[in-house]
Amino acid sequence: MRRTTSALLVTLAAATPLLAQRQPAAAHRRPPVPTPASVLGFQPGTERRLVDWDPVVRYFRVLAAATDRVQVRELGRTTNGAAFVAAFISSPANLARLTQLRETQRLLADPRLVPDSAAAEVLFRRGKVFVLITSSIHSTEVGGFFSPLQIAYQLASGTSPEIRSILDNTVVMLVPSLNPDGVTIVSRWYNQTLGTNAEGSAPPELYHHYTGHDNNRDWYAFTQVETRIVVDSLYDVWHPQVTLDLHQQGSNGSRIFVPPYLDPAEPNVDPLLLQGDNALGLAIAWRMTGDGFTGVAAHSVYDAWTPGRAFQHYHGAVRILTETASASLATSVNVPADSLRPGAGVDPRAPAWNFVAPWPGGQWTLNDIVRYQTASGMALLDHVTRNREEWLRTSWRVLQRATRGWPDWPYAFVIPTAGQNEVALGALLEVFRHAQVEVRAALAPFTLGRERFYPGTYVVVLRQPYAAFAKALLERQHYPDLREYPGGPPSRPYDVTAHTLSLLLGVRVLAAADSLPIALSAPVTRRPPLYQVRGLSGGGPGVVRVGLYRSYAAAADEGWTRWTFDTWGVPYESLMDSTVRAGNLASRFDAIILPSQSARALLDGLPARRYPARYAGGLGAAGVQALRDFVDAGGTLIALNQASTFAIGALDLPVADVLGDLPSSDFYAPGSILRLQLDTLDALAEGMSAQSVAWFESGPAFEVRDPTRVNVIGRFPTDPGDVLLSGWLLGAGRLAGKAALVEVHRGRGRVILFGFRPQYRGQSLATLPLLFDAVKSAAR
Ligand SMILES: [Zn+2]
Repeated sequence: MRRTTSALLVTLAAATPLLAQRQPAAAHRRPPVPTPASVLGFQPGTERRLVDWDPVVRYFRVLAAATDRVQVRELGRTTNGAAFVAAFISSPANLARLTQLRETQRLLADPRLVPDSAAAEVLFRRGKVFVLITSSIHSTEVGGFFSPLQIAYQLASGTSPEIRSILDNTVVMLVPSLNPDGVTIVSRWYNQTLGTNAEGSAPPELYHHYTGHDNNRDWYAFTQVETRIVVDSLYDVWHPQVTLDLHQQGSNGSRIFVPPYLDPAEPNVDPLLLQGDNALGLAIAWRMTGDGFTGVAAHSVYDAWTPGRAFQHYHGAVRILTETASASLATSVNVPADSLRPGAGVDPRAPAWNFVAPWPGGQWTLNDIVRYQTASGMALLDHVTRNREEWLRTSWRVLQRATRGWPDWPYAFVIPTAGQNEVALGALLEVFRHAQVEVRAALAPFTLGRERFYPGTYVVVLRQPYAAFAKALLERQHYPDLREYPGGPPSRPYDVTAHTLSLLLGVRVLAAADSLPIALSAPVTRRPPLYQVRGLSGGGPGVVRVGLYRSYAAAADEGWTRWTFDTWGVPYESLMDSTVRAGNLASRFDAIILPSQSARALLDGLPARRYPARYAGGLGAAGVQALRDFVDAGGTLIALNQASTFAIGALDLPVADVLGDLPSSDFYAPGSILRLQLDTLDALAEGMSAQSVAWFESGPAFEVRDPTRVNVIGRFPTDPGDVLLSGWLLGAGRLAGKAALVEVHRGRGRVILFGFRPQYRGQSLATLPLLFDAVKSAAR
């Protein structure tokens, strides 16, 4: 029998009376869910349109007011005072019982609190997956300003079964920007330069007040307020099982990267989490390919080595990174197929198992970026929803294994209190407090090996949910010797290779292989450290006048130096190119610091063909002459790491960099902790231990050409086997016995050259005194 369409609909309606009854009367309908365009004034992804931070926050507030699927929470204030917000998105029923869900999450995050596997199964059945989605920590990756709005709108307005299922099965915590200040910094710069040569360029300042791009390297040291907000009020409270972090990569590679990550993975990341990264990343690629997206690459470019970007991997959560190709900020770019370039693990012109459908090339727009990012987010949520219990179980198993300990793990790390630097000890315990690592105190004396420890000695037992985090930061890294091909040059790691925080802080720790024969206290904390330098903090009359060079070709190391000085209360003045070039510096400054930056960047700065005149040109010849005059007149120039190479040439110093242009097959140390031996009779190392550390990263190593003018304060050990403490070092023989910290006399002044980063990412408290003493020594 042939039926008309309307007859069929009538039959369906009759068969599903509930559905028919639930159609609300038009008069009771809520107003429509506001679109991002209704608040921004334009559609997200519109060519050459960026947005400040305030309208982003306004959109989330308007959205939350219009729907009971969204709640907005202000979690704190950023470095520059902006609101730091997160949107909680779920079904109205879930949002109404968030307190109860939080309790479930607390139990799921600590298997010690759950009596047996039957009780765990109950939690898996009733729990929701908490998914943390974060965006635009790197503010020139501007698609990330908009994609969270699109994701929020789709979840808030969608009526499909898929959206309803996502809302029922997950609680999405959406952080529209991990760096709100940067949204405004980049948008203002972009709008100011629209239609000029500088359109689409990076701003002439760091896009995070202190750290620039390094804000995404702070996830184990927690030096910045934004990092602390996210850790303290999202991770520590809600214990997400799945996280997605939206980033952008260059324009000429794949269109989007998803996990699996390249090798190596950090050995303390539970293999089950890595398998979760693999599965979920490929599920996103699978879904996106089905929806017609091309250029999706897995297993390329990005590795999973450093905890600096991966707090999640040590806290029971998978970390899905996506990296979408960039335009020129909000200005589209043309990317012909023959301009696509291979990266590690992928050739964007050639299909491969991890890159099944190449993108054909062509115009690439902000809208494309937002489309790809949004699709990756929705694909992730869909997959997690369909496998809700499995994701809860995965996280649980990882944390349960950590509470039992792995067979090859030590039982505990012991942190003596005697003979330690109070500030460094306080800093380490603060890190563990943020990371919810339990630190206990010995209640009785005990011996380990031949050493005796007092009651009160700290003990970190590696049988707790987040034990892997503590272990990664307290042990030494042995980075694998990976080559591009057998016998070939080293494969570049994506980032640095060492993260032994105890070494960087100068805190002594010992591994205890077996359980200790004493009782331990309940978890303890320690008063946060007070950062003060005698003779420098607080300034005042007679204090050293410090000029801190600040390039418009903004360098993260400059920001870290500024952060260090602000945190320790050491006064300084930022020195811009025009001030240096104008000369007469000796009348205004006792010490001038050049943070680590290449000689080329220091000299040439930003290119004049791209940037307005006031930002272009670097120190130039006039700046070099002014620095020479400053030293000759009695000033102290302090050059950090790469800036030392610049200083050697610019001031004609009788010191050579022995590493110079050595190929990476002869010498390679991509961010490692080395042993440093100090001459403690020298005023610049007074009060330090003779054995210290150096954060080595693209730095020089010195050979003295005229000993009458050069004091060597720090050296690498003479035995090549003794040089490396943590990370990766090829060609140790090139460094062995070479100078790492020297004082060079010139005219009536001095130049102090650091071959390492004494204030590395705010972490290396062990070597900060060397920097402060160098500053103090400039007093005239
Ligand atoms: Zn990024």
